[in-house]
Amino acid sequence: MDLTYTAEEQAFRQEVRAWLEAHVPKTPLKSFDTRAGFQQHREWERSLNTGRWSAVNWPVEYGGRGVTLLQWLIFEEEYYRAGAPGRVNQNGIFLLGPTLMEFGTPEQKARYLPRMASGEEVWAQGWSEPNAGSDMAAIRATARKDGDHYVINGQKTWCSRGAFADWLFGIFRTDPNSERHHGLTFILVPLDAPGVTVRPIAQLDGETGFAEVFFDDARVPVENRLGPENQGWKVAMATAGFERGLMLRSPARYQNTARKLVEFYRAHADTADPCLRDAVARAWLNAESYTLNTYWTVSRLMSGGSIGAEASLNKIFWSELDLHMHETALALLGPRAELTRAAPDAGNIGDWLDGFLFALAGPIYAGTNEIQRNVIAERLLKLPKG
Ligand SMILES: Cc1cc2nc3c(=O)[nH]c(=O)nc-3n(C[C@H](O)[C@H](O)[C@H](O)COP(=O)(O)OP(=O)(O)OC[C@H]3O[C@@H](n4cnc5c(N)ncnc54)[C@H](O)[C@@H]3O)c2cc1C
Repeated sequence: MDLTYTAEEQAFRQEVRAWLEAHVPKTPLKSFDTRAGFQQHREWERSLNTGRWSAVNWPVEYGGRGVTLLQWLIFEEEYYRAGAPGRVNQNGIFLLGPTLMEFGTPEQKARYLPRMASGEEVWAQGWSEPNAGSDMAAIRATARKDGDHYVINGQKTWCSRGAFADWLFGIFRTDPNSERHHGLTFILVPLDAPGVTVRPIAQLDGETGFAEVFFDDARVPVENRLGPENQGWKVAMATAGFERGLMLRSPARYQNTARKLVEFYRAHADTADPCLRDAVARAWLNAESYTLNTYWTVSRLMSGGSIGAEASLNKIFWSELDLHMHETALALLGPRAELTRAAPDAGNIGDWLDGFLFALAGPIYAGTNEIQRNVIAERLLKLPKG
């Protein structure tokens, strides 16, 4: 792994930086878990797409720039450094997009990818069901073939952005006699189809971007199937690998938080508990370690390697790092940690509490860390199944 940037990579960084300086909204957008904020973020995706920045490593014909994964990392570093808005279509661009690239027909790629890149169609992820969370193979929602349609029945839950999204991707049981991960099919479902009901779920912070989705004889054309019938588990595992392994959480996000934590510590060093100095230093070092590890992963992928079960290591690392950084910031704040962003004299302090509340979910979403530890034990350490 050579960490020296080429002239082309440096020029790319300058181009990203200049574009972001000119275009990042000066006033922060509202949360994309509110209807108004969702629309603002959709507009931001449109704006990114005008500069072809929404999916930089995608092929040019689908709205990307066809740059390398290393340039994608550079883009992400600049993106977070510029304080640009969160990505409302991350389920589409970072998870479904790469899956479509691998399993989609040419028609599907042409139909879905450009509208994903432009923010015209925002996607929700439909894996979890009331009795199929960690045990995802217990999925019970069905899709029955009826001529040139699938007829879908059942329920999905915990769909991030589901309350306002346009489409949902998920896996459904197409073979009624099947069990566990057999007999499932990956299907793309428009959320405005007849028979689909979306019910928002209020979060801890009161916002309602989450949703549960009910299917009552919802009809979806067979051409919305991604990959072969009854082979949906394999397609979904590829998506989950993108989610845990690389695309969902780039190191820039954590480097940025670590940098802010160090600045925050320095600003309060006179009064801060000296024991927290270690925690701050550890946070910064861990963010740097995650960055170097990601550079290593990217250089392996660029030479034809794959991620596999190591994605589980990454997922545990970034989620626990995020939580520790926010816990440290709250400890530094002392009693003022309880100020939310909405408090009149909170200033930027409220961002730490908001960040902490979200970081609490990190060890749960994208597959809980307990499950990732099982994966590591079985597949990487080859320990016997308990
Ligand atoms: C912020 C957030 C966003 C989410 N977004 C989405 C989304 O967009 N789409 C979607 O489909 N889902 C989403 N989810 C759901 C998420 O994937 C599930 O919550 C997660 O998979 C856990 O499933 P569960 O909630 O049913 O918990 P359960 O499976 O009931 O688990 C409960 C506890 O038991 C532990 N446990 C269960 N089985 C084992 C085992 N075999 N070994 C050890 N421990 C075990 C778990 O680790 C967990 O701590 C989201 C969740 C959160 C918090």
